[in-house]
Amino acid sequence: MTVIAIDGPAASGKGTLARRLAVHLGFAFLDTGLLYRAVGLAVLRTGGDPSDPVAAARAAHGLDLGSLDDPALRDEATAAAASQVAAIPDVRAALLDLQRRFAKTPPRGEPGAVLDGRDIGTVVCPDAEVKLFITADLPTRARRRWRELAAKGEAADLSAVQAEMAARDRRDAERGVAPLTRAADAILLDTTNSDIEAVFKAALRAVEEKIGRSLGGPSTA
Ligand code: C5P
Repeated sequence: MTVIAIDGPAASGKGTLARRLAVHLGFAFLDTGLLYRAVGLAVLRTGGDPSDPVAAARAAHGLDLGSLDDPALRDEATAAAASQVAAIPDVRAALLDLQRRFAKTPPRGEPGAVLDGRDIGTVVCPDAEVKLFITADLPTRARRRWRELAAKGEAADLSAVQAEMAARDRRDAERGVAPLTRAADAILLDTTNSDIEAVFKAALRAVEEKIGRSLGGPSTA
């Protein structure tokens, strides 16, 4: 089983990259942010407070994996709630097994798995064969998110998007449990000035250097 762990802040490009690598390699893909978003959304929908440990832990234990395609999971309010529930140790513990099981035994028997999130290389899969840390500067990430919102027809103020993203970065990096941080053995890719094609090629080179032989092909590096 080959595991590729991809971490990084919001709108760094890690999700696009993770999905593309998974398709290219024929691996399973898990967007772990969706799990935290689903917990945050469940709390919001019951009128609860996402920073309430009891309400958040109840939602995490009752998580319905069949509901991960709800469009409301992509909302900015859901993202903010996700980063609040994500700071609660019981919530993280409830989601840990599920993520590890996915990495160990992918749902359709795929030969490997790509997981993206904030703590995959550090906590969920510390033994992953390949670890990537994807980042970009805050104004670039905020502009990307602002463009995504505009494309969905949701007019937003760029400076408000950037302020909300900075607050979420801070919550994710400063929380006591599994904070967003680069694993010592993660390869750093900065996407500030690179397009997705260049990032994908660099990531694929890194993957092939690490696991080229086990993929059955010569390294293209
Ligand atoms: O990646 P995404 O923006 O969907 O993640 C939403 C929130 O979920 C993050 O801001 C973070 O607080 C939390 N998260 C986490 N650990 C992960 C994935 C996401 O804490 N592995």
